[in-house]
Amino acid sequence: MTTPARSPHRAWIEIDHATLASNLAVIRQLAGPERQVIAVVKANGYGHGAIEVSRTLAAHGVERLAVATVGEGVALREAGISGPIVVLWGIGEPEAPIAMAADLELTVYDQAGIELAERAAAAAGKRAALHLKLDTGLGRQGSDPGDAIELAVRVARSRDLHLAATFSHLAVPGQDDAYTDVQLLRLAQALDGMRSAGVDPGLVHVAASGGLLAGIGGFADAVRPGLALYGLVPAWAGETDHGLRPILSLKALPLRIFELPAGDAIGYGLRFRTTQATRIATLGIGYGDGWPRIHANNGSVLVHGERRPIVGAISMDGLTVDLGETHDVTYDDEFVLIGEQMSARITADEVAGERRTINYEVTTALRDRLPRLHLPEVIAGAG
Ligand SMILES: *Cc1c(COP(=O)(O)O)cnc(C)c1O
Repeated sequence: MTTPARSPHRAWIEIDHATLASNLAVIRQLAGPERQVIAVVKANGYGHGAIEVSRTLAAHGVERLAVATVGEGVALREAGISGPIVVLWGIGEPEAPIAMAADLELTVYDQAGIELAERAAAAAGKRAALHLKLDTGLGRQGSDPGDAIELAVRVARSRDLHLAATFSHLAVPGQDDAYTDVQLLRLAQALDGMRSAGVDPGLVHVAASGGLLAGIGGFADAVRPGLALYGLVPAWAGETDHGLRPILSLKALPLRIFELPAGDAIGYGLRFRTTQATRIATLGIGYGDGWPRIHANNGSVLVHGERRPIVGAISMDGLTVDLGETHDVTYDDEFVLIGEQMSARITADEVAGERRTINYEVTTALRDRLPRLHLPEVIAGAG
């Protein structure tokens, strides 16, 4: 049998940039008009495509972008994105000159980091913009709040450095108010101390998506969401409709449609056996694309607006779907792994449940091998 002509893509991602822009508008509304938005586009924009997402956000006036690593910031600069970009994690010595050359803002939280930034700034003949990160209770990265004043004074006194911002990150926003209040109090006290010492802490930012949805951090000048931009919310916030809509769909066309008699088995390990004659569709997406093996006989896809089960093992490059009664599926019919089709919908949250993980990991896991179609066309040259 010859294989019919089809789309050039076995499986692909579609990103809805109009909805991205409306998510940004919802975030602005939640944050309040006086607050800036620092858009977090680390890990390839949570798998959505950092460059294209950043262009759209910049074209819609986002004040600053945030990444996790110097490499991510450099990639945005190489794509022509020119606004402020902050690296949210501390950096190592070899990265400092690269960060300076790319005009990235750096996160610092100790004397060693400040000195590293100072040396690199002096060598580059530039003034480094620093964000002082306080560990107020996440227990991950940041200065002890008790050291914040000394560090801020150190930055303020250097001719090669500029304290652009002071920030912290919350462990349980919307989930444990008492703990969050302690974190916020530690930050507020450090800010008071800096101001009393005559140091301007710069832009104050604390709330990521969780904090934003919980209405936390009224004293801050900016919010710092990632997840919410992509139209997803933390699991605890899932009950409320905030007006945020997912912007990512994951689709595929069938590579093969075939009949299987009752009692036959398919895939590595023969992990699925038919109880009656059925039709199977093979899709060209597997764990090499970021669709993990835990989906063996676990999860579903949409075709003709109906849910059909994933059956058998997930291979590196493919998976199989039991079409059951959906007999008229053709090689032109789109399958949806994440997204909407007619009135049916599969969310990243549903997929996360099947994997015992969180929605963040579902989109971030999607590999570069999957082409990303950015719709409508990204505004050329913006940002
Ligand atoms: C990843 C990250 C964010 C974004 O968090 P979301 O929950 O996706 O909004 C904000 N701030 C810091 C420091 C981060 O590491």
